[in-house]
Amino acid sequence: MNNWNIQSRAHACQACEKSFADKEKYHTVLTDAKSDYTRLDLCVKCWESQYEDGANERKGFISHWQGIYEQAPEAPPEPILKASAETLLRELVELNDPKYAAASYILAVMLERKRQLRVKEQFKRDGQRIFIYEQPKTFDIFTIPDPDLQLNELDEVQHLVARLLEHGLNPLPSAAPEEAVVVDVSEESDAADEEPVGEEETEPAQS
Ligand SMILES: [Zn+2]
Repeated sequence: MNNWNIQSRAHACQACEKSFADKEKYHTVLTDAKSDYTRLDLCVKCWESQYEDGANERKGFISHWQGIYEQAPEAPPEPILKASAETLLRELVELNDPKYAAASYILAVMLERKRQLRVKEQFKRDGQRIFIYEQPKTFDIFTIPDPDLQLNELDEVQHLVARLLEHGLNPLPSAAPEEAVVVDVSEESDAADEEPVGEEETEPAQS
């Protein structure tokens, strides 16, 4: 079972192969095939004629949702730092190495807090919570298991994430140690400023 994966939204119905038009409604069915999660994007016609009846009784059914297909706008390039947390998450998920399980989860939580990912669905599999995150611009979905981190493991993972954000997955060997770069992950040394992961204070101070 490949627990982590990324699946891009299709540009055509995966049943009849007709291209989606701009603003066309589509249906996504997520199922749990033997070795992987499988995403199926369907036009309304195929959904209604072939899938709608008994969709959630299908083997391995996890979730179904509806979306509106939009032709990719000519988006301005993302600022480099903003892109890097997501880029790193994509690299980690594609690597599919259990040693980065917790780091992937922490990155997904960070991106969710910055509203660069949103939780589309969550479910339990073999007692483990699995989150389906959606990238709100590309509609890619990321399947990320909750590593069920203990508080005393959090520091270590946050340091790993900070290191990865700073140096990347495969850093080039550098001659001299570099100054630490400040990233959006709390450090052990300034415990007073530490912010719990997964929570966000949005209430402004009352005047
Ligand atoms: Zn179709």
